[in-house]
This record gives sequence, C-alpha cells and structure tokens, in this order.
Amino acid sequence: MGDFKSAARELIMTGSVNSNARILAGECFCGAVRYAVVDSFEYALNCHCSNCRRTTGSAFKPFAGIARDKLNITAGDDIVMIHGDAAGHDAHCRRCGSLLYSVVRDGAFVHVAMGTLVDAPSIRPTAHIFVGSKAPWFSITDGLPQYDGHVTAKG
Ligand SMILES: [Zn+2]
Ligand SMILES: [Zn+2]
Repeated sequence: MGDFKSAARELIMTGSVNSNARILAGECFCGAVRYAVVDSFEYALNCHCSNCRRTTGSAFKPFAGIARDKLNITAGDDIVMIHGDAAGHDAHCRRCGSLLYSVVRDGAFVHVAMGTLVDAPSIRPTAHIFVGSKAPWFSITDGLPQYDGHVTAKG
C-alpha cells in the first residue's frame, strides 16, 4: 500500500484538497488496477441507462462524480483499458474487465463506479436516473426520486 499512501499525499498536495479530507481506495475485481480518490464526491446517482447496465452487467450502476484531478491511479496504470476518447471514456482493467470509472463532462469529471470502492464513501446515491430505459425485470423498491432521463447532477 506504499503506492496508495504516496498517491494520497500527492492528492492532498495538489492544494484543491484540504488536508482533513479522507482518501478512499478502490480496485478492480482482480486487484491489478487500484486508485485513490478524495472523499468529496459532488453527487451520486443510480443510472439505469442501457450503457451502464451493459458495462456493469447489472440492473443499474451506482456512480459518484468528482473533479478528475481528485482521482489518481495507484497501481496498474499500464493495464487500464480505455473505451472512448480522451475527453470521454470508460476505464476498465484490461485483465479482468472491471469498469472502474468513466471520464465525463469534456474530461473535467470522473464518475466512479461505486461498486469498485474498497472504502465506504460519505456520499450516498440520491436518485435513480434514466429510469425510462430501466430493465423491465428490475423493480425499484426504495423511496429515492426517479427521473426518466438525466437530472442536473450538480448540487
Ligand atoms: Zn482487474
Ligand atoms: Zn448510465
């Protein structure tokens, strides 16, 4: 975990992060790719769109959004497989295929696939989005707000 500690220190040194912020670890299924992310996510949502269902093989994808510079790869940088282009892509482990995060909003933000977090974040998903394209075999049983499409995520 030496790599994790130095990456965490680097995140704190960038200045945009106050030194009290927790640093969370995350990793892929096989453990080859690891990342460190500051526990200051700006929003978290459950996305039911077909892309999120297929990239995760699940009913929906809980994800949490944060400025891209608050996430660092701490191991396996060389085997991160990018699907998309520099300004918008999904980042997978080339070895096991796990979806770790997506780079979105013209490269400014990352949407961390919350299932890859090792440490529990402070934030919780606050809504279901793209419910209009949700899997018919899945029923949402919680009381969170549901949106047919996107919701303005900020705030
Ligand atoms: Zn892996
Ligand atoms: Zn989606």
